[in-house]
Amino acid sequence: MSDRYASFVQSGPGRALVKRLGLPDPPRLRRHRPGDPLVTAPVVLGTAPGGRLAGQVGALLTAAGVELRDPAAVAPGPATDPAARNAALVYDATGITDSTGLRPLYDFFHAHARTLHPSGRVIVLGTPPEECGSPRAATAQRALEGLTRSIGKEFGRGSTAQLVYVTREADAGTLVSLESTLRFLLSGRSAYVSGQVVRVGRPAGPGQAVAPADWDRPLAGKVALVTGAARGIGAALARLLARDGAHVVVLDIPAAGDALAAVANDIGGTAVQLDLTTADAPTRLAEHLATRHGHVDIVVHNAGITRDKTIARMDADRWDQVIDVNLASQERINDVLLERDLIPAGGRIVAVSSIAGIAGNRGQTNYATSKAGVIGLVQSMAPVLAERGITLNAVAPGFIETRLTARIPLMIREAGRRMNSMSQGGLPVDVAETIAWFASPASGGITGNVVRVCGQSLLGA
Ligand code: NAD
Repeated sequence: MSDRYASFVQSGPGRALVKRLGLPDPPRLRRHRPGDPLVTAPVVLGTAPGGRLAGQVGALLTAAGVELRDPAAVAPGPATDPAARNAALVYDATGITDSTGLRPLYDFFHAHARTLHPSGRVIVLGTPPEECGSPRAATAQRALEGLTRSIGKEFGRGSTAQLVYVTREADAGTLVSLESTLRFLLSGRSAYVSGQVVRVGRPAGPGQAVAPADWDRPLAGKVALVTGAARGIGAALARLLARDGAHVVVLDIPAAGDALAAVANDIGGTAVQLDLTTADAPTRLAEHLATRHGHVDIVVHNAGITRDKTIARMDADRWDQVIDVNLASQERINDVLLERDLIPAGGRIVAVSSIAGIAGNRGQTNYATSKAGVIGLVQSMAPVLAERGITLNAVAPGFIETRLTARIPLMIREAGRRMNSMSQGGLPVDVAETIAWFASPASGGITGNVVRVCGQSLLGA
């Protein structure tokens, strides 16, 4: 579970050797610690002519304590003086309505690329192409994806780059959701998220995107359920949701009861020992939530298994188990919790998919089918749930350092770790932070998204 190569590279003698030999150079990523400021240096905010968001974004970042720099006042070229370095480059590209209008993007990023400090952030704001009034405008807005994905691969040193499409019908709730998104993407919470396209829409109803009283404890008063929480990503997530203020109900199979109890005790949560594949699991879970808490605000379907074999060698049991745990159990639980009205308006459901569900993987037809199905579930159910004021999103982790990936044969494991823009695997906390952003009461305008937590892995890119 430990990346000895990265630790070596980040040491003094290791750095020198790696540079001399031209080996992969995994940077130390800036990760959020409680009490950290959003950014530790100014943010350059630029806009193409006619941008509709820069003014509002400037106001909300300033209110969040961020120092803004006017691009015209920033000297172009490499920032040799550390005080001249910037934490982020944010660009409002919503005003671009034609491919001939793409040039200001070049001007802005060409001038400021070398002023970004390590673990810097690039965020481009656009209009969803399908909402553009003309094919030309839609074409230009779609082109933004190529820019951000390339910058994610180019800038290095732990920098990330994302494209955020914001609906044209933005209302107050949309702006709160945009703030939630910018706070996530600018901070160390999104250390291992890069090259992503996020869509911020209008929340389904009034009051469904609410700025928390304290952005460091946005989940205060919320009840959250995490499945598969005895270890790995689920345990890290349970701890993080508790850090953010939630009461967390952790669930895992009875055989993992001791580890599960330890997680629950650590965070003052409640443990439920339940095998999700048993026929009565959804009703038993629903009864537990109804009697103990009356409802559940946040449901995270994290439990997952692998049973790898090529399809020619795979027995039917391996297929059935993986589809059942990773996909069908999510559907069954959603159905029962929704039937019994246990998830109120403002509720959040987050499903854990995988980049294997996007790219496919040799020896994982069962797993990739289940994880692609999770994406299908998000896309098909998000509009249905919007009618009830509930959001549904998915994370698709790449290579995350857990027991699951520690079992992968060495050479394949090394390839998985290094073949991404960060040259390293992610940590369970990186997936957990992304889920916590979806789960925030401020994220009501974010639904139907699938965000990869993969350091911009080359797989399925
Ligand atoms: P893990 O094996 O460490 O943890 C999974 C947990 O789910 C375990 O505690 C296990 O007991 C529990 N679980 C399994 N079957 C269950 C059942 N029938 N009922 C209740 N609980 C059950 O795995 P992880 O690496 O922490 O992965 C968590 C999720 O993230 C999974 O859905 C996995 O597919 C996904 N994922 C992980 C990675 C990675 O690199 N680790 C990458 C992509 C996706």
